[in-house]
This record gives sequence, structure tokens and C-alpha cells, in this order.
Amino acid sequence: LLKAVGVRKSYGHTEVLGGIDLEVHKGQVVCLLGPSGAGKSTFLRCVNHLEAIDAGQVWVDGEPIGFRLKNGKLYELKEREVARQRRDIGMVFQRFNLFGHRTAVQNVVEGPVRVLGLNPEEARVQALDLLDRVGLAHRADAYPAQLSGGQQQRVAIARSLAMKPKLMLFDEPTSALDPELVGEVLAVMGTLAAEGMTMVVVTHEMGFAAEAADEVVFMADGVVVETGPPGEILSSPKHERTKQFLARVL
Ligand code: ATP
Ligand code: MG
Repeated sequence: LLKAVGVRKSYGHTEVLGGIDLEVHKGQVVCLLGPSGAGKSTFLRCVNHLEAIDAGQVWVDGEPIGFRLKNGKLYELKEREVARQRRDIGMVFQRFNLFGHRTAVQNVVEGPVRVLGLNPEEARVQALDLLDRVGLAHRADAYPAQLSGGQQQRVAIARSLAMKPKLMLFDEPTSALDPELVGEVLAVMGTLAAEGMTMVVVTHEMGFAAEAADEVVFMADGVVVETGPPGEILSSPKHERTKQFLARVL
């Protein structure tokens, strides 16, 4: 479902991604690990074309992101057409960025109504169902400031799901949370994974990676150092960089 081939990205003279290859099949969960500065966030932003890439290509469900394939050639898309492609790719960040002046349910309703053209009544029914799925039906009318960080992050996940994405990208979704709130967010993500959502998750939560990931990818200095099932990578990594990293986080 997701295929990244030779993705390169530089900022000025600094190469941040040195040719990333990654394939994620439908229903798979891939956890991206790596030290700070490895390029994990940059890679996620390249997947949904929030960053233009310098070389390589990203494909989601057979579509070249940022481009249209015509007669075997790729033509660059305009920003609004990229925005259309991006709808299929949900993204959850470290900071929840909900609309502060809107309630939980209004936050979830917003995208489907404004972007997908769903009628507000239908969107509200769907939003309440999604809030129920993340365990927040009873907080539907609360404003973000009235919710804990973990609850806000679960609203953010519900808001992403409301767009019916084919792929979900998570960038350290629990690293801004108080430790006691991490579990509730990981539980929602685990359920989502079990239900068959295709996910790429940047995380330092090794327990989640061990349990939910089909594949773990260890990145450092803008390249994939090694990749494999969590049982292998987490317990018997082959590369020195991976060993050092795991020794620090485990
Ligand atoms: P962390 O674990 O700290 O989130 P990361 O693996 O997500 O790290 P990135 O945020 O992708 O790493 O950053 C990779 C490198 O690219 C870093 O050296 C960073 O300073 C640099 N970088 C990221 N965004 C920009 C930008 N917009 N302009 C210049 N350099 C950038
Ligand atoms: Mg990052």
C-alpha cells in the first residue's frame, strides 16, 4: 500500500534522507525507530508530500504522491491536487493540534463536512461513533483545554480516522504525554492496528513496537540501518548502531 523508493531530502547542503526504501503492505504496522535527527519525521512528511523530495518516489495505493502518472511519465501535481491525495493519509503528531475553540465532536466533524462534503448530521453521527471507539463518547462536548493530553490525542486520532484514510502516519504520538497517559493512546493505536489499519508509527515505545509491529525499521543518519520483525530487531539486532540505540531506550 505504501512504497517509498530511494527517497532523498536535503536542506541546503545537509542531506537528511539519503535514499530511503520502505514498503508497507495493506494492514501492516511498521514502527520506525532511530535516534534524534535520524530523519524519521522528515521521512513521514515526505510520504504525504508536506516536504517535496529531491529524488525517489513515494507511492500510496498505486498513486505517485505529488505526481500524476501519464503515459509512463510523472507530472507534478498542483498543491490542491496533492491535498486531495493527502486526504487518504492520516497524520497524528506529537502535539495534538486540535482546534481550541471547538469541542471534541466539532473537531472530528470539521474535515468530513468541509473537505469531503458530508452533511453535518451524518458527520456528527459518524464523529460520535469514532469518539466512542477511542473511548471518549462521554467527552464529546468538551473543549480541548478541558481534556487531558491523552484524551486530546485520542480526539486527534478520531479526527484523522473521520477522513477514512488508507494509511495512518504517527509521529511520536505519545512522547508529549505524561507517562500515565501513554497507555490509553497506545491502546487505541493497538486496536486500530488489530482492526487492520495500515500504519507507520515513529515511536520510542518499544513495548508497542514489540506487540503491534509487523516490521521494525531502524533508521540513523538518514538511512535505514536494518529492518525486520520486532522479535529479531529488538532482541538480536545485527548492527552496532541499533545495539547502541536499543541499549539506551530499553
Ligand atoms: P527526532 O527523534 O528528534 O524527532 P527525527 O528522526 O524525527 O528526530 P528529523 O526531524 O527528521 O529527525 O530531522 C532530521 C534532520 O533534519 C535534523 O538534523 C534536523 O535538524 C534537520 N531538519 C529537519 N527539518 C529541517 C528544516 N525544515 N530545515 C533544515 N533542517 C531540518
Ligand atoms: Mg521527529
